[in-house]
Amino acid sequence: MSEKNKYNQQIIIGSGVAGLTAAIYSARAVLEPLVFEGDLPGGQLTQTTEVENYPGFEEGILGSQLMEVMKKQATRFGARFVSRKVEKVDLREGSLSLTAGEETYAADSVIIATGAAPRFLGLENEKSFMGRGVSTCATCDAFFYRGKKVVVVGGGDSAMEESSFITKFASEVTIVHRRDQLRSSKIMQERVFSNDKIKIIWDTIVTDIIGTEKEGVKAVMLENVKTGEKTEYLTDGFFLAIGHIPNSQIFKGQIDLDEEGYILVHDSIKTSVPGVFAAGDVVDRVYRQAVTAAGMGCMASLDAEKYLASLNR
Ligand code: NAP
Repeated sequence: MSEKNKYNQQIIIGSGVAGLTAAIYSARAVLEPLVFEGDLPGGQLTQTTEVENYPGFEEGILGSQLMEVMKKQATRFGARFVSRKVEKVDLREGSLSLTAGEETYAADSVIIATGAAPRFLGLENEKSFMGRGVSTCATCDAFFYRGKKVVVVGGGDSAMEESSFITKFASEVTIVHRRDQLRSSKIMQERVFSNDKIKIIWDTIVTDIIGTEKEGVKAVMLENVKTGEKTEYLTDGFFLAIGHIPNSQIFKGQIDLDEEGYILVHDSIKTSVPGVFAAGDVVDRVYRQAVTAAGMGCMASLDAEKYLASLNR
């Protein structure tokens, strides 16, 4: 590792839409950002198929392809990439550094764009059916269930919103919730209750996903937590909407987080530590869209550039 890589004007942690957009802007500003790609280079979009709502692609674009192009765009202007995960950070004001593998890297500014991971139930096969009947993103995948039956698990606003959205395509949506009361806001509950295509199975958990590698999901196993009754429930799709977990564990105790681990920002994208900015799903508990992450990545880069200029180095 060269000395140049060890000391940087700017380090970007994360290579999803927020991180790569920040990298494009920072690279064009000749800051030569060093981007740590993390465990999932390209971020959550690489886990979806067609992206149809990212502006500029009339026919849609594959998530992985979009991320590949963004990386090339950032590289073209001088962004540098490290295929490593940042394991440790030291974000004391005036001495920002992070550790990945054996190396420690120092920087004048850091943009955190580590994203969020959808929460899973922890079933043995739910990840292996991802993209073949299991989804964590209704906005991305509901389209593929035109005229089909879908199960959504969860009782919060996401589950309500996603169920309503899926009914634009699916013939039938069944919400499976572990309690007899929803967590979501009343208005979203009312929307669900008045939708003829949605039914709710209460006090029930999903204990298994049934399907084949070739045909994908065929059914889910349900268990009523009050009676213990077990049923096989036929479905073409299974959407998880039980929340997200922001990827902020390594920043705990160093910058301000809310009680769920989302990074708290002020003045749009500034964290509690000067020189440290945050963008994308690690901050955003509401929109979680590629285009909003891109917008925040841009904002983080522009503000970091101003911050660097103020250091007069
Ligand atoms: P959430 O409010 O935390 O709800 C998660 C739901 O999943 C809860 O009903 C919970 O059940 C259930 N759940 C969690 N772990 C589970 C498990 N292991 N097995 C079965 N069920 C499980 O998450 P969210 O719905 O994603 O919402 C997150 C935040 O975003 C909220 O503040 C929400 O208001 C906001 N949001 C807002 C909008 C909007 O306003 N348009 C849309 C989406 C999200 P219990 O209820 O039993 O705990």
